[in-house]
Amino acid sequence: MHSTSARFPEPASPARTRSSLRPDCANCFALCCTAFGFTRSADFALDKPAGAPCRNLASDFTCTIHDSLLPRGFRGCTVFDCFGAGQNVSHGLFSGKSWLENPGTKDDMFAAFKASRQLHEMLWYLVEAQARTFDPDASLQAARLRATIEHTAGRLPELLSLDIQELHSRVRTLLMEVSEEVRASCCAAGDDHLEPELAPGADLMGSNFRSRRLCGADLRGAWLIAADLRGSDLSGVDLLGADLRDARLDGADLSQALYVTQPQLNSAKGSAATLLPPDLTMPPSWRNG
Ligand code: SF4
Repeated sequence: MHSTSARFPEPASPARTRSSLRPDCANCFALCCTAFGFTRSADFALDKPAGAPCRNLASDFTCTIHDSLLPRGFRGCTVFDCFGAGQNVSHGLFSGKSWLENPGTKDDMFAAFKASRQLHEMLWYLVEAQARTFDPDASLQAARLRATIEHTAGRLPELLSLDIQELHSRVRTLLMEVSEEVRASCCAAGDDHLEPELAPGADLMGSNFRSRRLCGADLRGAWLIAADLRGSDLSGVDLLGADLRDARLDGADLSQALYVTQPQLNSAKGSAATLLPPDLTMPPSWRNG
């Protein structure tokens, strides 16, 4: 048996919990406002090339229109979430020296941020997979993947040379295994028949699921834009990568939904009556109904 220690560090103590996978903009050099580009659209009021600072960015890395992003046409900025990659790169990998202070690091810093964000998102899902599986092998595999990702995310050369697709594929396989386990337990407890159209990647834009019990459905990658999910029960529903833009979540129960992220919630419409999964917070835009 060959040694796997280089690729699978033993999972003695995966350090990151979900609290460390949240943005800390005060300790970031506005990497999301510089590294990524965006196109003028319903989400952004202007075009911006990748690698250039947004024209609304101040020299202290704050946004000059932070309090009026929605009316100024920058909804995309209110939805985005870096899963804590910004502070990891700014301070963990570049020792608190910004791309403004040290322009020679700009390309590496932005490339590291893009890779780190993907790794942190994987960590977000893996924490949940490990917590929800009852299968010891799946739990160990999740811990090993977390340790591998944390190791890579903390080392610049490894981060910049990472084969992210290969890692992504291993993570995806595990997430799907755990999803199957969780959804099966929900289906076993339920009595509703789920229609065949409730499937991964399904086009469910504008569909009416009001007050429906959707427990155990696999809606991974589904298009739920503007779907009416008010009062629905989404326990054990796999929502990995589902598009929830403008989905109506008022009164929906997502407390046991699987693989939900903050950007998904930020893009949806809910209220204080929406039951959220652990570790997620109510988007500010929901406060006024
Ligand atoms: S509008 Fe503000 S938050 Fe959005 S990219 Fe520009 S500086 Fe950043």
